[in-house]
Amino acid sequence: MKRPYNFSAGPAAMPQEVLTQAAGEMLDWHGSGMSVMEMSHRGKDFISIYEQAQADLRELLAVPEQFRILFMQGGGLAENAIVPLNLSGAGTVDFVVTGSWSHKSLQEAARYCTANLAASNQADGHTTLPAPQNWHLSKDASYLHLCSNETIHGVEWQELPDLKAIGCDSPLVVDCSSHVASRPMDWSRIGVAFAGAQKNLGPAGLTLVIVRQDLLDRALPICPSAFNYKIVAENQSMFNTPPTYAIYMAGLVFQWLKRQGGMTAMEQRNEAKAALLYDAIDGSQLYFNKVTRDCRSRMNVPFFLRDESLNEAFLSGAREHGLLQLKGHKSVGGMRASIYNAMPLEGVQALVNYMLEFQQDRA
Ligand SMILES: *Cc1c(COP(=O)(O)O)cnc(C)c1O
Repeated sequence: MKRPYNFSAGPAAMPQEVLTQAAGEMLDWHGSGMSVMEMSHRGKDFISIYEQAQADLRELLAVPEQFRILFMQGGGLAENAIVPLNLSGAGTVDFVVTGSWSHKSLQEAARYCTANLAASNQADGHTTLPAPQNWHLSKDASYLHLCSNETIHGVEWQELPDLKAIGCDSPLVVDCSSHVASRPMDWSRIGVAFAGAQKNLGPAGLTLVIVRQDLLDRALPICPSAFNYKIVAENQSMFNTPPTYAIYMAGLVFQWLKRQGGMTAMEQRNEAKAALLYDAIDGSQLYFNKVTRDCRSRMNVPFFLRDESLNEAFLSGAREHGLLQLKGHKSVGGMRASIYNAMPLEGVQALVNYMLEFQQDRA
């Protein structure tokens, strides 16, 4: 079945192979006589799905032993509260604001701790990344938060900053919601990484949290038990009923990613996809992208038409060409193509072909 290419920022396109497999297993998972969503989360069938997903993700992302993988709920926005409830000690936390998402994280954390704006790229419209040497760090911050891929502004840390190199001992907390599993991760630089699943891992409802063991036991007394990392870890993410179907779907995505060749292969594919699209934008008369080249996101590509009166025609033509959900976020306007793991190179090529055709028709 040939489906349109879906450029949604999230919930986003899933690998078609995974959807087909899930459809085949919908009524009867592996002879159990049940759909996965009908199973007890404590029964042996679901436990096997959970354990496989944990093991596959650990292997894929090369998560070291001293980190725990938690399957939580509430999305990235809930983590904006859950992280300070677990880690801030109601003290001071440093924030590097590089776009809407890290800005939201700072605002939410300020309800539980002193949120220090250590650096920001707001002055240039969130189109660059502030150099770590120039950050204004607090003396005893409980942690430093950054968003490694700003989904709305299309800014990505191509490499995580090395906090030790700038004399910072705080653990690094990374919101990697929109590019987790798009490239290898440097765990030597990370204390906590979290990600809502609906961009690059699976359906909405599952939140992935990977926590270094020594950070598990710092929660404030007011932290809800279901959001306490230590309690969640001690209960194998089953303190309360976990999002079982979303975990199953993410598990199928992890297996698909392994079949694609894992993180190194995905990174190469994602680089190639992004290069194809950015080259087309940079080489055109009609389209442009505002982000400085070395911090452009490989996953979320915002772009604009020089003649904004053509926006509606561009979008409706795109839909006719089987290219869906390209409208930009309302806060920045223009267009946005999200090209997560599930987007094949052919999908990006189809978009580029359409963009050139649309431009030629108006030349
Ligand atoms: C989508 C997104 C979020 C919010 O996720 P929710 O699941 O809606 O809470 C947070 N951070 C980033 C970087 C995102 O892309």
